[in-house]
Amino acid sequence: MDFFGMTLASLENFFHQQGENKAKAKILFKSVYRNRQAVENIAEFSDKTKQLIMDNFNFDLPKQVTMQDDGKTAKALLSFSNGNKAETVIMRHDYGAGLCVSTQIGCSMGCKFCQSGKLKKRRDLTAGEMTSQVLFMRQYCEIKHISIMGIGEPLDNFDNLKDFIEILSCPYGLAFGGKNITLSTCGIIPQIKRLSEINCQFNLAVSLHAPTDELRSQIMPINKKYGIAELIETVKEYSDNYGKRIAFEYILLDGINDSAENAVQLAELIKGINCYVNLIPYNETESSEFKRSKNADIFFDTLKKSGVNAIFRREFGTGIKAACGQLSSEYD
Ligand code: SF4
Repeated sequence: MDFFGMTLASLENFFHQQGENKAKAKILFKSVYRNRQAVENIAEFSDKTKQLIMDNFNFDLPKQVTMQDDGKTAKALLSFSNGNKAETVIMRHDYGAGLCVSTQIGCSMGCKFCQSGKLKKRRDLTAGEMTSQVLFMRQYCEIKHISIMGIGEPLDNFDNLKDFIEILSCPYGLAFGGKNITLSTCGIIPQIKRLSEINCQFNLAVSLHAPTDELRSQIMPINKKYGIAELIETVKEYSDNYGKRIAFEYILLDGINDSAENAVQLAELIKGINCYVNLIPYNETESSEFKRSKNADIFFDTLKKSGVNAIFRREFGTGIKAACGQLSSEYD
């Protein structure tokens, strides 16, 4: 079994089934995740317990295929046990580093502005493969914040995501507080309604990118299934229930969704929600069908005048293709 995919509860269950004291699960979690110890060095365990653990679990991290680092951003292409590969990115902010975790090999959501969406989903990543991205990258720098917004739609891989967040936030495990975890979704409404099943108060970011169904359906096929009105209602409910401030992500595409009129429509749409808008400059790639907006400042000013909290997302990693919408994965 992959140790990094085990929640504390499943590990306790394992020890219990082996006729061992389940308290050993907490010691093992703490030793591996907090103290970064190898099993053979855990002083609290007898040789018999160490052998039991080593016979039943593997602690392998993914292999590094490439690593590009421009000083502010580090992007690794990692190869998982079956040879599938995905990228993960560290962004070094002044206040600490954030890691952007991938949840799938490819993505089926097909957002038109996203490189990852062109790959089609090959498979879901397991909880262990998500955890192992954190463990691999923390060898390079201390990570303060986790953004679950790399390759893939996290809510299209709900059960593995749930276990991953449990491991991530477990006080005996990686111990990230909810305020240091951000989950981003393109808006799979039934799964947003299931978020209460995850026992962690993380931040929710919603990839909105357009203020009307007509426009959103053109650039995000998911909108044909789950329209804007129901999405906004569901997100408002989530925000009200958990007292959470929602981040609406909005990528500015030249001549597509960046007019002053679009800004007014957006302000009207999200009125009454505890939220802010994260404006994202578009990162062009060789195969881009869109251009970076020239109207970004006017869009921003119009939002502000309409009473919306808005910020521009700081740009990271464009030079090494590690920025939003530029990540890729490989199948073999
Ligand atoms: S933006 Fe997210 S959901 Fe859309 S295609 Fe890209 S990875 Fe998938």
